[in-house]
Amino acid sequence: MDSAAPGAEQRRLDACFLGPYGENDSLLEKLVVEFLRDHVHWRRNFHPEDPPAIPTTAAQHPQYQALEAKMRRELHQLSAALKQSVPFHSPRYIGHMASDLLLPGLAAQILALPYNPNNVSEDAAPITVQLEIQAGLQLARMLGYPSDPTRPDCAFGHLTSGGTLANYQALRLALALKAFPVALRAADVPDIGVPEDDWQAFNLEPAAAIALLVRWQDWLARLDDGEARAWRERFQAQRPETLGLVEFFARHRDLKVPQVLAPITAHYSWSKGLKMLGLGRAQLRLVATRGMRMDADALRQVLDDCERERQPVLTVVGVLGSTEYGTIDPLDEIVQARRDMAARGLGFGIHVDAAWGGYLATLFRNPDGSLRTPAEIRGEYRDFPQPEVHAAFAALAETDSVTVDPHKLGYLPYGTGAFICRDHRATALIAEQADYVFMEGASGDYMARYRQLGQYIPEGSKSGAAAAAVYVTHRVLPLDHANFGLMPRQTVLAAEAFQARAQRFARDMQGVVSACVPFPPDSNLVCLALNPHGNRDLATANAFVRRLYDELRCDPHKPLQVKQFFSSITTLQRSMVGDAELHRILDGLGIDTGTLDHDRADRLVILRHTLMNPYLIDHENGISYIDRYFEYLGVLLGTARG
Ligand SMILES: *Cc1c(COP(=O)(O)O)cnc(C)c1O
Repeated sequence: MDSAAPGAEQRRLDACFLGPYGENDSLLEKLVVEFLRDHVHWRRNFHPEDPPAIPTTAAQHPQYQALEAKMRRELHQLSAALKQSVPFHSPRYIGHMASDLLLPGLAAQILALPYNPNNVSEDAAPITVQLEIQAGLQLARMLGYPSDPTRPDCAFGHLTSGGTLANYQALRLALALKAFPVALRAADVPDIGVPEDDWQAFNLEPAAAIALLVRWQDWLARLDDGEARAWRERFQAQRPETLGLVEFFARHRDLKVPQVLAPITAHYSWSKGLKMLGLGRAQLRLVATRGMRMDADALRQVLDDCERERQPVLTVVGVLGSTEYGTIDPLDEIVQARRDMAARGLGFGIHVDAAWGGYLATLFRNPDGSLRTPAEIRGEYRDFPQPEVHAAFAALAETDSVTVDPHKLGYLPYGTGAFICRDHRATALIAEQADYVFMEGASGDYMARYRQLGQYIPEGSKSGAAAAAVYVTHRVLPLDHANFGLMPRQTVLAAEAFQARAQRFARDMQGVVSACVPFPPDSNLVCLALNPHGNRDLATANAFVRRLYDELRCDPHKPLQVKQFFSSITTLQRSMVGDAELHRILDGLGIDTGTLDHDRADRLVILRHTLMNPYLIDHENGISYIDRYFEYLGVLLGTARG
């Protein structure tokens, strides 16, 4: 790949997408028709002796024709209305986290839809439940988690409706693991190394809690059935999953309700998750950032405070690719802080919210599963990856669970998030009928254990077709740098080109506007801050960017074609960036910071660009949509200033 010309590299993606122009229409059409026919054959071959229940003459009946006409009318209306959709497929779309869809996934989903598998359990989806579990293992391998299901500590992953629910699942599992040793203590379980007091029990690290879980299951297995059942019931009766949080903490008055530590840049799904779990939004403690990455010193400070105040920590969330800025938290430093705090008796899990950045891990993975060194990668890019970024991806293997969204950088249709935990044995604690799972013991067959997938997931019924799409995509494009990695590679190259172009734009436009990339991007989201030349007022600068954005956003009242480009906006809030950083950016733009302290508008509105489309630099036609975007911005600036 290193030696290949950029154009040749792009050619390797030619069969991957329907394409900005619908270039692969006949390929998709062929696949859809071929497998639709295949599906019909399957129906007919189930019991060919059963005659058709709908007569061949049915289409001649007036009711049939009336219904068909109605169907067509509605479908045409729908199809017409959908023409106002957001053109995610186009390299002119650099707004939110969406792009074209991968053909193998789209075809697999369309193929599987008429079979309508329900991944709640194998009874309703004999094939696609297995594919979902396999997809979880594929993602686990990408992250550096154990992915061999014959290993007792193999990882486990499943799909969710999206990253929001995957994050919620992480909270649920973290709480179950943390409370489990406390419940064992309360049930007076003897002999298996249950910690001395509630504080210690509540502060076992996930690995230690899982080891205790295995001892507990082995201990139960040595009892006779009736005795084992009685102990299980005693234990279940003490769990927060049975008692509810109110009663659980009422019984353990010396334990404070645990907090979740996440960077200020964390997605709002964390707030939602804490509300859903009943721990409450107040338990979300936000950690300061530096350059929009979690500040490891600030984290250590918070952890020190927690230890001193005997404030338990449920989990520390590291963000791998923040939603607004694409920045990557120092996971390696979080892992180190966890190690240090464990020695001081404060134990907690680490969850990585990689809803956005998860698939970037393919850039760091060799086809044999090993991690690529910084030296191996660096020659392929201008600056990527910064040493901190490489260290963060290398540390993924030491975290406890991860959220990844196949429907974001996995280029798959909506309805697919993923939750992956490093050691699957923990899932016994979130099974709906825990007794049933406990009975199987720790040594049960991995694939058999997850047949009743609905036992473990937050949802019930859900799409097996979506699971098929994820699995097939990962098979066609294995999750390493030489295969799936081709796509994130294009996006990182595009981000580097975008940043360089933005710097040139800033120079060229000096007399018109002050422009800067407010902080160097870690991955493939690049922001642009703008201020009209000569303006010193923050509110005026913000109004200016909002006017610009009016031209760059989706507007259902205007024909799509009048739009040249789509981008998005975000804000840099003082509470988020910190005073020093905000002052640096505002000074650079020539905005007066003197009024900031009493100005309510203590936020800077900036443009945000998600560089996901693999054809942003179209080597075939020698077009850079990045150049064109900046040329267009130049034109817009004239109008927005007026
Ligand atoms: C998108 C995103 C989420 C939420 O995922 P959904 O799929 O929209 O539910 C959570 N965290 C991060 C970092 C995200 O980018």
